[in-house]
Amino acid sequence: MLGIFKILLRNLRQGPATHPFPFAEAHTPPRFRGRVTMLPEKCVGCGVCAHVCPGEAIRLQPSLDNTGYSFSIWHNSCALCGSCRHFCPTGAISLTNDWHLSHRQSEKYTTAEHHLVPYLRCAGCGEPIRMLPPELAARIYAHKPPGVENLGELMKLCPACRRLEILKREAIAAANA
Ligand code: SF4
Ligand code: SF4
Repeated sequence: MLGIFKILLRNLRQGPATHPFPFAEAHTPPRFRGRVTMLPEKCVGCGVCAHVCPGEAIRLQPSLDNTGYSFSIWHNSCALCGSCRHFCPTGAISLTNDWHLSHRQSEKYTTAEHHLVPYLRCAGCGEPIRMLPPELAARIYAHKPPGVENLGELMKLCPACRRLEILKREAIAAANA
């Protein structure tokens, strides 16, 4: 009997051990897997995230006017597994530690994140191209092709024009060697 009083007294002294949610925000660990989000300026539109998503929560499709592609994350279908983040080659997609995702069934089509990622125009032929983030370009062209000083100029070209430009500069560099 004395034991239970000891526990009661200790608990009264210590106060509540649980979080006061919903009257105050609950602690969320930094690595908690919460709402998925995407940074359009880092996305290359490869579609890997949509391919690996088990819940089919991610959708990419060309915009109606073909000036870019739309990217949607449907939080209602997301299982918070983290596969999209794991496989994204550019780090464009990530999971926040925001867990405030409960919503009414009637809100399932609005509980989503949408982006329109515009295409760039190739500086050579004018074809629409997907942007290549500088960090990814630096990895792909870690060994700069001969005669190429500024990778940024190459990134303004479509893959076909880029290959031609590299060949041209390699030929010039070889002739001058
Ligand atoms: S966390 Fe998993 S379920 Fe959610 S969008 Fe990414 S891959 Fe799909
Ligand atoms: S978010 Fe990442 S994986 Fe998804 S399309 Fe963009 S670059 Fe590719």
